[in-house]
Amino acid sequence: MLRPYARFRAHTHTRPLFRCRACGAPWPCSRARLVLLAMYRDNPGGLRHHLTSRLVVALTDQPRADPAALTARFLDWIPPD
Ligand SMILES: [Zn+2]
Repeated sequence: MLRPYARFRAHTHTRPLFRCRACGAPWPCSRARLVLLAMYRDNPGGLRHHLTSRLVVALTDQPRADPAALTARFLDWIPPD
């Protein structure tokens, strides 16, 4: 039997374009941001570390992307510590 939430696709990213697997928006999409904020509610440094590691992968996967734009997309929405 499927778990009740199994029909929902997680708002995780694909590679190499880092678009959301569920909604197709650039990741982290608004839903992913909400989930990440909840997951790391008590660990803002961990959230920053996680997103920075994803950013490094995205920069490696997309060598022609604008690094400033990718950095803003991954990190600028995080609330200050
Ligand atoms: Zn999404």
